[in-house]
Amino acid sequence: MTDGSSTGPSPVWEEYQGARTGTDIECEGWRQEAALRMLNNNLDPDVAEDPENLVVYGGIGQAARSWDAYETIVEELRSLADDQTLLVQSGKPVGRLQTHERAPRVLIANTNLVSKYDTWEHFRDLDEKGLMMMANYTAGSWGYIGTQGVLQGTYETLAEVGRQHFPEIEGLRGKIVATAGLGGMGGNQPLAVTMNQGVCIVAEVSEERIDRRIETGYCQEKADNLDEAIERAREHAERGKPYSVAVPVNAVKMLESMLDRGIFPDVLTDMTTAHDELNGYYPLGYTTEEADQFREEDPDRYVEEALDTMERHVDAIIELQDRGTVAFAYGNNIRGQVADHRDGDEPWPLSGTPADERDPFDFPGFVPAYVRPLFCRGKGPFRWVALSGKEEDIYRTDELVREMFPDDESLHRWIDLAQEQVEFQGLPARICWLGQRAEDDKSDEPLSERARFALRVNELVGKGELSAPVVVTRDQLDGGSVASPTRATEDMKDGSDAVADWPILNALTNCAAGADIVSVHGSAGSFGLATSSNNHVVLDGSDLAAEKARTVLDADPSTAVLRHADAGYEEAIEEARESDVHVPMRETGPLDYETE
Ligand code: NAD
Repeated sequence: MTDGSSTGPSPVWEEYQGARTGTDIECEGWRQEAALRMLNNNLDPDVAEDPENLVVYGGIGQAARSWDAYETIVEELRSLADDQTLLVQSGKPVGRLQTHERAPRVLIANTNLVSKYDTWEHFRDLDEKGLMMMANYTAGSWGYIGTQGVLQGTYETLAEVGRQHFPEIEGLRGKIVATAGLGGMGGNQPLAVTMNQGVCIVAEVSEERIDRRIETGYCQEKADNLDEAIERAREHAERGKPYSVAVPVNAVKMLESMLDRGIFPDVLTDMTTAHDELNGYYPLGYTTEEADQFREEDPDRYVEEALDTMERHVDAIIELQDRGTVAFAYGNNIRGQVADHRDGDEPWPLSGTPADERDPFDFPGFVPAYVRPLFCRGKGPFRWVALSGKEEDIYRTDELVREMFPDDESLHRWIDLAQEQVEFQGLPARICWLGQRAEDDKSDEPLSERARFALRVNELVGKGELSAPVVVTRDQLDGGSVASPTRATEDMKDGSDAVADWPILNALTNCAAGADIVSVHGSAGSFGLATSSNNHVVLDGSDLAAEKARTVLDADPSTAVLRHADAGYEEAIEEARESDVHVPMRETGPLDYETE
């Protein structure tokens, strides 16, 4: 995972232990300072899953390629001028160029391989030689904000599950959601379920991960065994009380036991690290210690056993779906892994269907099932981070959301829940799914919700109402910034699932519009299956920041609308019309109006 040029954590990182806070800066300007703080925030021991190995989340998703590379990025950022740009290639700083003030300060390209070589095998070889790192999404783009980052996405997804499948009840009250994986991202699930009034039962092989989620308030209790967990979950569901319980077992053990006992959860998903069969997913029949040793001693056999376990995992999900459970895949490529691996003809445990008649994709992905209508409207996982380190700054921005979007009840509910229930990790941050034009925007200058909000935040920084600059960024899994045919772009209306031009256009758009950090990533763990891009804008109260907020944060969500309008989604075409996003070959946007 590192290039071997340095072992052990760097003393520079040891000294930081997370981002610096306050208003004194160690760089030439706030935009460089913001990049440095975001990098260190990604590697904060309270934020990252395994920072001593540079790992932020998602199996082996790193923030820098090696400790030497980390130290050099820090040095480069400290001395980077306001008209220079640092180039980072797979977590290693490779150049500093003279550009101009409005250009990005940092450009990042991570884990991109040409298609013929876009495989785990080739990646591992390069990783071993110190030539590449796994960056996942926000790990290598320095936009990770801890488990909160995926929380609102899961909350929105589950709210939609409730609306579609259980319209007669409030959210998921009285319903049991079964899932697995309490890692950096998966750890959000129990809280997202209880925020929707439901009951969550979650299998996680690592007791340490369970304890971490309980300490940070993401999960309520740990059960010693499955019987106890199921009993407590049923009891709470019968009383309609929101509740979450984790059980230290393999996901497959939990699901097969449920099938054996005739206990069918209402909703079922999964956030184990199935995308990585070697360093992420745990095969059945081992403790984590035994499995870690097994991986070291015989990686090939480990991979075989992990994939065999995944097959049983997917089989159990589909068996439960056949018995009435609402099942969906949640972005870990478990279906793709099994589709690639499957060749046996063992019958399913209960239904007796032979293997060649099973399709792992028989249960849907979460984006086509629940999220795509939001992407069509340019809505997605927007977030901001208070560089001051002060929680009050985030609470002030929460107020601003309420002031600016007075009619958006679901946004208000989200902010209330987040304030009550989300513990900050590292720099205080807020995720908030904003998008294109707000329904209540009556202004002459049509701007996206994100741009309008960022402009107001910039004003608050300028006036000193926020104590230091704020960085706005997002997850790569947004409407216009990712191509991943087994996840965000699965089952597109026009069949354009695998077209990776869109995230590239998104990154180029962000550069053209002047974002402060722009990144393009290949695989997020599933080789050959993803290209994505990300952006950061630093709001330091200046006119330049206002200009960037106006252009970047309007153009960026517009690419989501364009991408979905091009694919023929009516909601996106309507959004383009309402938001004056011009789509040349569709009858939308201001130019069409002018020619009418
Ligand atoms: P992580 O590596 O931090 O955690 C994964 C967890 O799964 C670990 O705690 C591990 O012990 C547990 N685990 C592995 N195999 C298991 C098994 N068979 N049974 C029970 N527990 C098992 O990873 P993460 O950051 O939490 O990400 C999890 C997955 O979710 C990844 O595949 C990632 O790509 C995906 N993801 C999806 C979204 C989304 O928007 N839906 C967002 C981020 C990540």
